[in-house]
Formats: sequence, structure tokens, C-alpha cells
Amino acid sequence: MKLHDILIVGAGLAGMRAAIAAPPDLDVAVISKVHPVRSHSVAAQGGINAALGEDDSWEAHAFDTAKGGLYLGDQDAIEAMCREAPEDILELERLGVIFSRDEQGRIAQRPFGGAGFPRTCYAADRTGHAILHAMYEQLLKRRIAVYEEWYVTALIMEDGACRGVVAWDLIHGGLHAIGAKAVILATGGSGRVFLTSTNAVINTGDGMALAYRAGAPLADMEFVQFHPTTLKGTGILITEGARGEGGYLLNTLGERFMKTYAPQQMELATRSTVSLAIGQEILEGRGVDGCVLLDLRHLGRQRILERLPQIRELAIEFAGLDPIETPIPVRPGAHYQMGGVRTNQWGETDIPGLYAAGECACVSVHGANRLGGNSLLDTIVFGRRSGIRAGEYARTVSPRALTTDQLAIEQERVRLLLAREGSIRAWQVREELGQLMSLNLGLVRTRESMSTALTSLSALTRRAASVMVQDKGRVFNTDLLQTFELQSLLDVAETIVASALAREESRGAHYRSDFPKRDDAQWIKHTVARRTPQGAALTYEPVTITRFQPQ
Ligand SMILES: Cc1cc2nc3c(=O)[nH]c(=O)nc-3n(C[C@H](O)[C@H](O)[C@H](O)COP(=O)(O)OP(=O)(O)OC[C@H]3O[C@@H](n4cnc5c(N)ncnc54)[C@H](O)[C@@H]3O)c2cc1C
Repeated sequence: MKLHDILIVGAGLAGMRAAIAAPPDLDVAVISKVHPVRSHSVAAQGGINAALGEDDSWEAHAFDTAKGGLYLGDQDAIEAMCREAPEDILELERLGVIFSRDEQGRIAQRPFGGAGFPRTCYAADRTGHAILHAMYEQLLKRRIAVYEEWYVTALIMEDGACRGVVAWDLIHGGLHAIGAKAVILATGGSGRVFLTSTNAVINTGDGMALAYRAGAPLADMEFVQFHPTTLKGTGILITEGARGEGGYLLNTLGERFMKTYAPQQMELATRSTVSLAIGQEILEGRGVDGCVLLDLRHLGRQRILERLPQIRELAIEFAGLDPIETPIPVRPGAHYQMGGVRTNQWGETDIPGLYAAGECACVSVHGANRLGGNSLLDTIVFGRRSGIRAGEYARTVSPRALTTDQLAIEQERVRLLLAREGSIRAWQVREELGQLMSLNLGLVRTRESMSTALTSLSALTRRAASVMVQDKGRVFNTDLLQTFELQSLLDVAETIVASALAREESRGAHYRSDFPKRDDAQWIKHTVARRTPQGAALTYEPVTITRFQPQ
């Protein structure tokens, strides 16, 4: 069996940043179900936050983050992220990221929702692409091994510690055990639990499910961010940068309706506020064909071509209209999971040897609502930190052969999957799950809707247990892959429903029409979900508050 010092699951920004930060004398490897630069990080458009401006400060950034997250983020972690952000941006630049510039030649910064200052650095509207490719170059330069197109199906646990993974080689077929002194999960988000989502089809919450099954708790899973502006009928993201550049939101009467909901911040209020406002306009009949309109026309041709070229391309390709001349029809869609594998500021989980960073982790810095531009930052800061800490830990672990039977367990699981007869296919259950979650755990939740979801989810889980894999082959068996992913989606959905049902208040992305008020006295606490045979068992943990009292 291959044995590494550090094995990183995921080659998005968090994973690659961790690999680059890990001590160079250690044997570091990355494993990813897709080629590294196809990770969802590549799709990030708007930018990455850091207080670089002379009149800005990391404290102001920390305040905006804590407030934007409705005081559910741990402020020690928020402080670390915001304090280290400027240095991390400069480091990215030294590593080869080409950021857009202002007239003086400095890194340009645009305003983003919920921020008191224009502090979002960007590379046009292709920021993720720019950073991810620079990280990949660094990975190649360091000759870090990548298991490309390998799918991790389970964590290897020994004596209560994580000691590696079992993975399916997608290209050749077959399961392999890979040992490691430390494993870092950097598997990204779980947006595909919902039918309408800005997320790539690969964002199925695998890492969260792997950790959950191995006994690590997931925190704050009820907080799923809905991005206010996704392109009609597709779920494709239209970056907040479009509003940051000055775009208006209009209803069917041609009114900038945000003046009713957030007269000060208007279109740049926090995402949950804007999403709810759009939902309300559509509900009250002031929508346009199930959407509202994002109007960029007044920005002018030049600015749109320069600052929002990809948005224009997407609108032309997928909606058949040119935003230089016509407003874009948009509506909210599932975008980001604020919850995830519970970690501390150094990426450490409850399981020795297991770390998590990026969207699959809940550190927590985003609390109940993430500010735009803070997620890329989260991947960079906490990816780096977990790479460093995992390196320190790996040095304390003595090398020894594993005695695990996890490989045999997984082999038996695959054998049974392939042998199963029947007619239910993974994609069918996946689609039903997406519909169920979008309908009952979307923008507005009630006890009734969530109880319905809970009951239907058990039924779907039973149905999933009889899914049939039609492709019995080994090479690129995407049918088998989808069946693995379906299991992750169901596990993640279980924690979202249970956590959301129990939180009897409205805060950030979790809005309940039966409990419409925020309840600080009772609910400034993290929801912690652990796996039991009966489903998710919930406990609560205090939120760390340092300098910003909830207001
Ligand atoms: C369309 C879009 C635009 C966005 N724009 C912005 C923005 O402008 N600013 C911002 O701050 N945030 C933005 N976000 C959010 C941000 O991009 C993501 O949260 C972040 O990039 C996630 O990075 P990550 O490294 O955690 O995961 P990802 O980039 O999603 O990478 C996950 C990796 O894990 C691997 N993986 C997953 N499961 C397995 C498995 N079972 N086995 C092996 N490998 C596995 C995948 O192959 C992949 O390499 C955006 C998100 C979307 C969807």
C-alpha cells in the first residue's frame, strides 16, 4: 500500500493551497475526482476580500464578516482570517496570480454586498480561474503527486485516528487503500443537494459525508446560502460583481425594489436580504416570468466589456440576450454551504489526523450568511493553515503498516452495488432529492415543509438502497460514481433537514416564516450534527465572541 505523510482530498483552491503550504520535505499527495483545474473554484467570478486600502482595516473587515454572518461566526477565527488576508493576497500575487489593477497600478478592489469598504480583489470576472491556474502551476513546480480522477469512497480509521483513504480509480477501475499520517478534506460544497444551484455537478458534499460517516460532527448545516442572482432557467451564477459595478435590480413595474427592503445598501445588502426581497417580489406578482431583472445597461458598453465580459458571454449563450442592450432575468439559487465539517482555526477536526478546509469545512467564519468574496479567502487562509498544521502533526506519527479492513469493506460494497438488479437509477433519486430540498428547504422554510422533507427523505434513502448500476464495467464507470455521490447527497441532506427543523428562529440564510424573528437569547449557538443509526443527533456549542457584541 502507498503511504504518504499528508494526503489531501480535493484539488480546488483549499486543497492546492494546503499542498503548497505543507512542508516541502514531507511526502504530500493530492487526490481529486476531476482534473485539478476543473474543480468548482475555477468558476468563482467576483473576487476575494482583503483589507488592502489605506483607509480600510482588517478590524473593519472582521466586523463586516461577523455582522454579515449575524454573529454566528466564531470571532477568533474571523479575526485570524481578516488579519492574515492582506499578506495572503500579496503571496498569491507572488505565486503568479494576475489581479486587475486600478489607475495607479495597484490591485483594484470592487465593492461587494455587506462590506463597508470596496475590498474585493478580482481578475475581471474570472477570479477563481486566475487563482486556481496559478496554484496548479505551483503544484507542478513542486512536483506534488496528484491522483487524478480518483474518487475517495471512505476514510481509513485506526485506533480512533484517520490514517488514509480508500479510493476508486475512475480511469482504470478498482479500489485502492492509500495510507497517510494526516488527511486533509478539501472537497468543496454540496450545492447539488438542491435542484437549482450555481454549483458544478461534482459538488455533492462527499467530504462532509466521509467525515460524518467516520464520526466527525458537521456544524451549522442549516445555513445554505441562496445567491440572489442566477440566470433564468439554468442556475448559472451572475456574479454579485455585476451589482458591485452598479447594476440595478428591477421588478415588472421597473422599480428598484430594494429601496423597500434595504434603503441604505440597496442592491448591495447581504445576500440573504437580497434573495428574500427577490423572492417576495416574485411571490407578490411583481416578478417577470418567475424572475426579476438585473439591469446593467446604464454601465455602458465599455465598462461591461472590461469588467463583466464573462457575464455578458453567459447571458448571450444561455439566455440569448446582450446585457449591453437588455436587462438579464435572474432569480435566487442554492450557492454555498456555510456549514460543514467542524474544525478549529487550524483545520483540526474532532478526529486526530483528520483536517478539513475550504467549503467542506465549518471553521466557522461565515456564520449564518457568508459575505461575497470571503469564501475564496477562507480557502486560501485555512487551506494554508491546515497544510501547516497537518505537517506538524505528521511529524509526530511514526510510520507503520496499516491493518485496516476498510478496503475489503469497500470492495464488498461495490460488489453488492454491481450485482444488484432492479430498475431505479441513481439520477432519478438524485433529481427527486433536489426537488424535495428546493421545494421544502429553500428560501422560506416552515415546520410543515421541513417535516414533509424529513419523511420523504427517509423514503428516498430506502429507494436509494435499491438503486441499480447498469454499467458493470470498470473503465470510467460514471454510473457507479453517481451512485456513490447520491449517498453523499443523502447524508448531507439528512443533516440539513434535521438542523434546520430544530432551529426555531430566522437568522441569515435560514428563514422560517413560522419563526420570522432572530432570537439572540436562545440561538447564538452552533448546531452540531453527529451520525447515529436513527439519523442525525444534534447538540449545540457556544459561539466564540471576542470584540463584536451582537447588535
Ligand atoms: C459559480 C460560483 C461562483 C463563485 N464565486 C465566488 C467569488 O467570486 N468569491 C468567493 O469568495 N467565492 C465564490 N464562490 C464560492 C467559492 O468559489 C467556493 O466556495 C470555493 O471555491 C470552494 O473551494 P474548495 O477548494 O473548498 O472546493 P472546490 O474548488 O469545489 O474543490 C473540491 C475538490 O474536491 C474534489 N473532490 C470532491 N469530492 C471528492 C471525492 N469523493 N474524491 C476525490 N476528490 C473529491 C474535487 O475533485 C475538487 O478537486 C463561488 C462559487 C460558485 C459555485
